[in-house]
Amino acid sequence: MKASPSDQAQVLDIQKMDFHVATLRNKVAALPEIVELLAATQRQAVVRDLAIAAQTQINDIKRELIRSESDVEQVVVRLQKDEKRLADGATAAKELEKLQHEVQTLSSRRAELEEVELEIMMRMDSVKDRLNELTAEAEQLVAKVAEAEGRKSVATSAIEAEIATVISERQATVAGVDGALVELYEKIRSGTGTGAAALREGRCDGCHLAINSVELGRMKTLASDEVVRCEECRCILVRGAH
Ligand SMILES: [Zn+2]
Repeated sequence: MKASPSDQAQVLDIQKMDFHVATLRNKVAALPEIVELLAATQRQAVVRDLAIAAQTQINDIKRELIRSESDVEQVVVRLQKDEKRLADGATAAKELEKLQHEVQTLSSRRAELEEVELEIMMRMDSVKDRLNELTAEAEQLVAKVAEAEGRKSVATSAIEAEIATVISERQATVAGVDGALVELYEKIRSGTGTGAAALREGRCDGCHLAINSVELGRMKTLASDEVVRCEECRCILVRGAH
């Protein structure tokens, strides 16, 4: 293939712009906000699960508390009944003894049950505290995600604008270059990522390998409008580039 040295030099410019665009796209993909957002959204999922577990626990403890309160209530009712009978005093001595014994038993049962109730209430408080902490963390995470999304969007827009500028420069350059040469360039680039490179000090600037002396000698005899390819990476090798 033949192409003017100027067109070959332009293809090298197009390659530089394509590298630039690729670098910018990598920059978008590697924004620190992406890692930050991933960590925050993963934590959000964990916090959500923990909050659901805490709420379930609260519901269970609530049922436990209702049972415990009714246990206490039952003992209290019996105790009040017995105490009233004792206060009335209209009982035989033998029965009185039995009644006093029952009051004692019920009183210590009541103390036991109230202790159980207290323990349940303390457990409830501790789970409620945990749920409050999780709710606060969930709110913080929502703010954190929104803030990181904002930063990511600003950074992305800036880079996208830069990419758009390079792409329009590239379009303008492509418009002035022989179509067949651009087509060849695109074909090679789609395979290896590098479609054109400069020949510098006997080396291909694309694959960085030295061109063997026989090939180098042959290239020197070719007219400057002859399109030369690197034998190693197959890219368009642009001679006389600076
Ligand atoms: Zn090469």
